[in-house]
Amino acid sequence: MAKECLAFSTDASCVVVRPSPPRDAIVIAASVGAAGANKPTDVRAIQGALNDVPGANGGPTPPLKVDGIVGSKTLAAIKHFQQTHVKVVDSRIDPKGRTLAALNAELGSTVPIAAQGLTGAAQGTRVPEFLPPDPEILATVVRLLGRIREVIRAATFRLATVDRFITNQKLSVPQGPFLANVRESLEILEAAFSIGKINNPRPPFDNIKRVFQNMTVALNRTFETAPLIAPVLFVPNTHISMEPRAAAYTSRGGAFFKPGEKLDGINEPADRIYVCRNMLKAPEDFQVAALVHELAHFVSGQPIEVVDVVKQGTMLKLRDRPRFNAIRPEDKIRSAEHYSFFAMVAKSPKFLVEGI
Ligand SMILES: [Zn+2]
Repeated sequence: MAKECLAFSTDASCVVVRPSPPRDAIVIAASVGAAGANKPTDVRAIQGALNDVPGANGGPTPPLKVDGIVGSKTLAAIKHFQQTHVKVVDSRIDPKGRTLAALNAELGSTVPIAAQGLTGAAQGTRVPEFLPPDPEILATVVRLLGRIREVIRAATFRLATVDRFITNQKLSVPQGPFLANVRESLEILEAAFSIGKINNPRPPFDNIKRVFQNMTVALNRTFETAPLIAPVLFVPNTHISMEPRAAAYTSRGGAFFKPGEKLDGINEPADRIYVCRNMLKAPEDFQVAALVHELAHFVSGQPIEVVDVVKQGTMLKLRDRPRFNAIRPEDKIRSAEHYSFFAMVAKSPKFLVEGI
């Protein structure tokens, strides 16, 4: 099973990212480009770095010859990169200038931290690739863990409530004043998964149940392994390169990996859900929904894959709902966002009508 890294961003898109190993920040001794000092070592460093920038992001096409000489093509490449990334377009890159910072940021190397005050990054100095664990994320995770448990418990309860009304042949809606809670739970189940539209609704229903059971097990294991330090499943991200890419990220099926298996390109345990700093800016309901989405990926694979049928938008936003409703029921039961939606609405049916 690939331990690919699924990143969920604050705009609610969720994509597989393949982080390249962190690279050292490009450091030059003197300016390169128009009226620059143009030391051959510096020029080669800049030419090589520009070549690593994809054409769509302002890199040169075709790539520059890495020869240490500033000619018209190198000047044009610097200018083109500046036009894409910075306001000042002077065809020159200075050792402490914005263009170099933008180039390092584009390449996912580690200059932003240096720019924030880790000064003295002399030539050849390795700037840290990691952030310290953020205590604010830890506090947030502890607070959210309670709400995540609540919504998963609510989902499990809704499923138990409707269980005996779903047979192999059909989903039956009971009448009578004492069964209003069953009707409400069925309505929520249908809003999320539409299994009533499947000829044989029982097997998909059982799959949904299993996914939520596995989520509960994953959450409980958190406490078995570390009863006093709850956040061992949800942990703060420390990889600088992931911060601009994600609000949270995890592996698909991480719950079933052997301990010690690592996420592709990140080299961190695959059996975790990583929470980034930009998650802190999101509203709390979004945070809960996003982490339930990640949790659904985390238990993917047994019995069914939980993927991103929907790449963008959140079901909890009313304007996105029609698009999400249009997805085939067979795909809804494999969609992380639909699991998240069901759990959030199971706990607070108002989201069904109000959105968040
Ligand atoms: Zn996802």
